[in-house]
Amino acid sequence: AKTAGRNAVRFFDPAMQAILVVRMMLESNLRIALANRQFMLYYQVQVNSDGKLIGAEALLRWQHPDRGFISPAEFIPLAEETGLIIPIGLWVLETACAQIKQWEEQPETRNLTLAVNVSAKQFQQSDFVESLSEIVGRHQIDPTRLKIELTESTILDNVDATTEKMHQLKKLGIAFSMDDFGTGYSSLAYLQRLPLNQLKIDQSFVRDLNHDENDATIVRAIISLGVNLGLNVIAEGVETSAQRAFLIEHNCYAFQGYFFSKPLPLEGFMALLKSDRAA
Ligand code: C2E
Ligand code: CA
Ligand code: CA
Ligand code: CA
Repeated sequence: AKTAGRNAVRFFDPAMQAILVVRMMLESNLRIALANRQFMLYYQVQVNSDGKLIGAEALLRWQHPDRGFISPAEFIPLAEETGLIIPIGLWVLETACAQIKQWEEQPETRNLTLAVNVSAKQFQQSDFVESLSEIVGRHQIDPTRLKIELTESTILDNVDATTEKMHQLKKLGIAFSMDDFGTGYSSLAYLQRLPLNQLKIDQSFVRDLNHDENDATIVRAIISLGVNLGLNVIAEGVETSAQRAFLIEHNCYAFQGYFFSKPLPLEGFMALLKSDRAA
């Protein structure tokens, strides 16, 4: 009885209760957000070593009517826990494919690729391949314009099933980038088996690249690993010309970060693209 009493006290801990209430509100707000079209995609440019704009990463934004923009870092974890990531992730793929279709219709945007983040829970749905091929087919896009970013933990969580799905999607022409590379535990054996097109160096290694010898060594190692495996390597979080210079010197293929542009709403991205073409 004493234990039960103590538990009861804990249950009514006001701090704990406040956290639960906030979570429940956030969850119900997420449902409302989906129904009321409060989500948007922002686009962050990816450029190659010649400075040419080669594509973009789609980054989800939640424009809350009272709270303004809420970061995906804040709501994606809860969306994953509650399963809401499934409809949200499908909305992201729908919107991304519709965008690719629009880009395909203009000569100056026809060759852009669009990278989309897919969370573990979504990729592991048994009907993920079916849903994505349906979306790609319905929008009638060239599937090679679409790239899926998966993290190491997503892949290693269930390596056989994930690899199988990746192979099926690769057959359709869809490309894969391994996101946040270097922060997880991929072994060389897995890397060789996976149908990847790209490694994305995590921004934590890029940040102090020019000052921290360890980070510089890791980045050089990732680039040569990628090159040796026939993968292109992209660095994220590039904020300075010194970082870009180091990466170019060591044969990094592509770059993304505030040095080039912050993630932008579609209109801003298109304006940047026009000025890039004019330059
Ligand atoms: P991520 O995939 O690693 O995305 C890169 C994050 O770094 C983005 O944060 C981007 O805005 C930010 N970033 C870009 N350039 C720089 C830079 O030069 N310096 C710094 N400090 N940061 C930079 P964001 O947009 O807040 O997204 C956070 C995370 O949320 C993403 O990390 C990704 O894991 C997740 N996410 C975003 N959109 C989606 C989505 O549509 N679906 C899923 N499942 N996850 C998403
Ligand atoms: Ca990403
Ligand atoms: Ca990252
Ligand atoms: Ca991440």
